[in-house]
Amino acid sequence: MLTDTKKTSTIPVYNSYTGEIIGSVPQSSEQDVMNALDTAKKGEAIGKKMPASERISILKKAVLLMEQEFDVLANLIATEGIKTISQAKKEVTRALQTMQLSAEEASRISGATIPFNAVPGSEDRMGYELKCPIGIVVAITPFNDPLNLVCHKLGPAIAAGNPVILKPSDYTPLVAIKFGEILFKAGLPKEMLSIITGAPEYFGDALISDDRIRLISFTGGVTAAKIIQRKAGLKKMVMELGSNSPVIVLSNADLEDAVQSCVSGAFFASGQNCVGVKRVFVDAAIYDSFLKKFVAQTATLKIGAPLTEGVDIGPIISKQALNEIDQFVIESIDHGATLIAGGKKIGNSYIPTVLVADCNNDIANCKEVFGPVVTISKVENLEQAIDCCNKSPFGLHAAVFTNDIQNAHKAINGLECAGVMINDSTDYRIDAMPFGGVKLSGIGREGVKSAIEAMSETKVVCFKLK
Ligand code: NAD
Repeated sequence: MLTDTKKTSTIPVYNSYTGEIIGSVPQSSEQDVMNALDTAKKGEAIGKKMPASERISILKKAVLLMEQEFDVLANLIATEGIKTISQAKKEVTRALQTMQLSAEEASRISGATIPFNAVPGSEDRMGYELKCPIGIVVAITPFNDPLNLVCHKLGPAIAAGNPVILKPSDYTPLVAIKFGEILFKAGLPKEMLSIITGAPEYFGDALISDDRIRLISFTGGVTAAKIIQRKAGLKKMVMELGSNSPVIVLSNADLEDAVQSCVSGAFFASGQNCVGVKRVFVDAAIYDSFLKKFVAQTATLKIGAPLTEGVDIGPIISKQALNEIDQFVIESIDHGATLIAGGKKIGNSYIPTVLVADCNNDIANCKEVFGPVVTISKVENLEQAIDCCNKSPFGLHAAVFTNDIQNAHKAINGLECAGVMINDSTDYRIDAMPFGGVKLSGIGREGVKSAIEAMSETKVVCFKLK
């Protein structure tokens, strides 16, 4: 039942560092969602007929236009979002690669021939698989990588020939809208993309529950994911969710390298990173020197205005998120952790925070803190470290620092996660690789090729030969 038939309001978009209003977007209504679904239904027919060469050409033109708008895109990310300008530029570079990869993968979408005649009674048959667009894709994205995570859904959707209804984060809609304009300029038919903005409570459940939607591709937190899954009904879902990624540092690791990678992995984007380093389990033999070096390197990080070159730590996305980080630190201390550094807000930023705790600490092991907080624990051996890593309900990325291949293999086999980095931070990722989580960290995989697979249906074709 629709309750709202006209657009009634706009909502402000803020500079997350200064709190100033920098723009506004419509607060979409239920009617806007219904209009978007009607439009997408027309887009479905257009996408089905569009040859791969045309999809590739749109994606390639988008890459060129993004290059021209590089600074505009980076400035939007560093203003409405939480990244420093240099981190924002890295994101635009990644987003360009994601779109370029989507263009390349679009030329490789193919199905196998099926050996029907291997089955007695089917000797006179031959056939193959056709890969067809799945249909309407709803893409819901978070605030922390506001451009590249949009590209990870729209690039593959266009490559596969699907229309998309995009719902970017309420905090970071401007860069998503700018990217939408780029796609239209690159030749994407208007029917193949609609953008719904504003808070979900104002536009109702149709964006999730309508039966015309064939796939919901969601990236965000577990709380929203559970609500969406309950409302979605019978439709395909890819869910990329949170984590509290662990690192194991063994006694034979390159200590300087491990410290440097863990500091960078913990505090990139002020820790607002789904694969950021959150827990570090260090062998007792090197624990004291690791901790000393880690704290010293953390103290060199510069907090400040994200548009100022040289700043490492920008803002946290909202006052509520800042309070949640504070709450995590307080609860950790209540559960036996010791505060070694940080533990305080400063304006809209949070000071990089180091806690030490028993490796069984249930707050660090069981909760996600989406901010610059890392918990360091001493372990006696690899088995204990793996056991503590696996106490988490999440399973996105994990990392192991060691120069012993046997230990690396033991960890790879024992860790419950979807990606293991050896001698690198948990936040290492390229956009071509399969990416996702096990346990509460997600369902299905992204990465351009995996996303195209998820956004395609297989149709079997069988010829009976005379
Ligand atoms: P969030 O779950 O609060 O919001 C994500 C998106 O979902 C936003 O666009 C939001 O408006 C929308 N949303 C929320 N409830 C909805 C509903 N009922 N109906 C429709 N849309 C709804 O997450 P966030 O705070 O933006 O991002 C942080 C979370 O995302 C963290 O948990 C982080 O780990 C996770 N994350 C995961 C990955 C990954 O690839 N695994 C990447 C980035 C962020």
